[in-house]
Amino acid sequence: MLVTGGARGIGLACARRFAADGHDVAVTYHSSAPPDDLFGVKCDITSADDVEAAFSQVEEHLGGPVEVLVANAGIARDTLLLRMSDDDFETVVDTNLVGTFRVVKRATRGMIRARSGRLILISSVVGLLGSAGQANYAASKAGLVGFARSLARELGSRAITVNVIAPGPVETDMIAALTDERRAELTAAVPLARAASPDEIAGVVAFVASDDAAYITGAVIPVDGGLGMGH
Ligand code: NDP
Repeated sequence: MLVTGGARGIGLACARRFAADGHDVAVTYHSSAPPDDLFGVKCDITSADDVEAAFSQVEEHLGGPVEVLVANAGIARDTLLLRMSDDDFETVVDTNLVGTFRVVKRATRGMIRARSGRLILISSVVGLLGSAGQANYAASKAGLVGFARSLARELGSRAITVNVIAPGPVETDMIAALTDERRAELTAAVPLARAASPDEIAGVVAFVASDDAAYITGAVIPVDGGLGMGH
């Protein structure tokens, strides 16, 4: 199993959950230090060369191709449209959407050969609802839905499932970077009236990776405390 962006936040929680369940796990890290307790490879998902090199190292470590990929790495650069530069837009899309394309494409090489696999893409409730000040981020996360559903159709006959997880606010550095006011606003809009813990996302990811989820593909699974219901 491979989790991108697995050195902190949701990715780390997913990787630790897989390890605790007895799976062989590798993570990619970029600017963070790799976690002491997991096999980590350095990878910037905006670089195709990095992605290729990281997969080679991970495959060597696992002794075979990646069977489950959690494409989790992502960034936000929030600002209102009139202040949003081309670079703000392009960098977010190049990381969240194109970066996910790069790792997914590389992972499918082994999965197609093996005629099985699980691709789990971490999107966001914002991709479905929209969010003022996050047009770049929302566009990148919505793009993952069309990407995943197309792949679900392309790869289904090879027993490869492709699903999207759409979290609401989760207690990680990404949320910590917001102002107190914005965080309070976000939580107030959630029917469960709180942010999720990273472990609550990891539990759902573990289910989608499990045998119990073999007949789920092309799904967008909300883990959002009800924030996005109806979308
Ligand atoms: P964090 O900001 O805590 O972590 C982001 C992760 O992405 C880090 O592991 C980081 O690696 C990695 N990353 C960023 N840029 C790159 C890059 N160019 N190449 C490789 N890795 C990169 O975020 P979260 O844990 O909160 O978020 C994880 C995912 O969940 C993201 O896709 C995010 O959009 C999504 N999400 C988060 C929500 C939240 O409320 N927290 C809500 C909904 C979705 P490193 O630290 O090594 O640089």
